[in-house]
Amino acid sequence: MNEHTLIIIKPDGLQRHLVGKILQYFEDANLNIDQCYIDTMTDDVLRAHYSQVVDKPFFPELKTYMQSGPCFFAIISGENAVARVRAIEGNTDPLKAERGTIRSDFGTSLNYNLVHGSDSVEHAKVEIARFFGPQPA
Ligand code: UDP
Repeated sequence: MNEHTLIIIKPDGLQRHLVGKILQYFEDANLNIDQCYIDTMTDDVLRAHYSQVVDKPFFPELKTYMQSGPCFFAIISGENAVARVRAIEGNTDPLKAERGTIRSDFGTSLNYNLVHGSDSVEHAKVEIARFFGPQPA
């Protein structure tokens, strides 16, 4: 099933000059980079994007981290792209992520885990619309 998903390379990825290396993981898996741009997240967009964790104790630190510099946003497509992108990124906690995943190879801690990937086809649609506007059906 051809799917589209959203990835975000978080500010530490840009600060550490890892954008090219991170994108290579997706291209090596034969996934396509369809659209991309770099921008800093506003408060409103950040709260919408992380609405499921906005009440968690770690949210203030997450907000500071996510707004510490610009992020790299991209739409990635390909066969089963949603689940495959998540697998390539690895566990949320880099210390628990499987070797060879982005978070295991480059992530430093649960707070600084470098990348985001939509967690379902439904959320991917919402997140792509949030960051890239309405897409053709
Ligand atoms: N996060 C954190 N501390 C935690 C759990 C999560 O700082 O204890 C951050 C981390 O950057 C993570 C984001 O909050 O990527 C969203 O958490 P979620 O559980 O949705 O993980 P993801 O889908 O990004 O793997």
